[in-house]
Amino acid sequence: MSIDLSKMPKIGFGLMRLPETDGVIDIDKVCKMADSYLEAGFNYFDTAYVYHGGNSEKAVKEAIVKRHPRESFTIATKLPAWSIHSLEDRDKIFNEQLDRCGVDYFDFYLLHSLEDGNNYDTYEKFDCFNWGIKKREEGKIRHFGFSFHGTPELLVKVLDLHPEIEFVQIQLNYADWDNAIVHSGKLYEILSERNIPIIVMEPCKGGKLANLDEECLDILNAIRPGKSAASWAFRYVASLPGVTTILSGMSTQEQMEDNMNTFKDFEPLTEEEKQAIDKVKEVMFRVEQVGCTACRYCVDGCPMGIKIPDIISAVNTKRKFPGDMRPQFFYNGLVSGNSHASECIACGQCEGVCPQHLPIISILQEASGYFDQG
Ligand code: SF4
Ligand code: SF4
Repeated sequence: MSIDLSKMPKIGFGLMRLPETDGVIDIDKVCKMADSYLEAGFNYFDTAYVYHGGNSEKAVKEAIVKRHPRESFTIATKLPAWSIHSLEDRDKIFNEQLDRCGVDYFDFYLLHSLEDGNNYDTYEKFDCFNWGIKKREEGKIRHFGFSFHGTPELLVKVLDLHPEIEFVQIQLNYADWDNAIVHSGKLYEILSERNIPIIVMEPCKGGKLANLDEECLDILNAIRPGKSAASWAFRYVASLPGVTTILSGMSTQEQMEDNMNTFKDFEPLTEEEKQAIDKVKEVMFRVEQVGCTACRYCVDGCPMGIKIPDIISAVNTKRKFPGDMRPQFFYNGLVSGNSHASECIACGQCEGVCPQHLPIISILQEASGYFDQG
């Protein structure tokens, strides 16, 4: 039976940061959280082959499948590109997932983490899109989509090539809307134009928007006192048309209760509240950014083939969010097969052509300090 994607629960229970005791998932706690979530009228559980080293899918079986009627909940899980080395691996992994979860079909199935390069190439190489459609025809998958971490250009290409895709999961939050690495706003617009249902991951930017500094909190509390920073981040994405479900990787009962309160009687952001979020972003982004316009005049003449503007974009994100791992992953992808920032020979060619007169050599040294140390 297919599900009306426009009537999905606004909040999905992400099972990637489950509570643990002595390094093992605490199933009793997961049971309590899952029960409160279901009792509140929600039913979307999101797991993946790799979460908790495979134990998240096993927790689905113990805490949900064995304890609740199958039609009372939906499960989403994902195929990992990095574990596929042959055509046979697709079915092998899929059957293992059914077994781990204790079900005979998945309500939602995603190709995990489509991004430019390796993952996307693997899904094409092993014909995973057609494989997914076949699984859907066999009734083993109810709805087929992918999670996405790539560029807007790749998203357009994949959607053009694969119109069979029913939904897409993207990283979306107010801080990343204009982020040149994450592209939240652009990805949202591409999907909205095509009326493709959007499932949101990282609505709180990995917890960062749930832990704002006092200056930001004062701005929000002046309008709606006593509401958590996380509730503002959730309401921001939930107010966007086309967003069907927002995943929250909940680890505690308290987070669960806070989220239930936000979504029980959901209120979209008012105009005044949207302006407050804009003010929070101003405070958040006050840190100095490198004024690179991405004209790429510096790139062709670099004897080391360094991807200067892309590395600057990673530096800008790192300056804004020092604890964020995305710039490091982005950088790793950039330098795979290309020169690292540390390989700059300080010839000065780039600085001579940069219309913004940027001190590129010292910016690359900064980048090297952030990203080349590991
Ligand atoms: S200074 Fe460094 S980055 Fe600039 S052109 Fe020379 S090698 Fe490339
Ligand atoms: S020339 Fe300057 S502004 Fe243009 S991409 Fe290079 S660093 Fe950025």
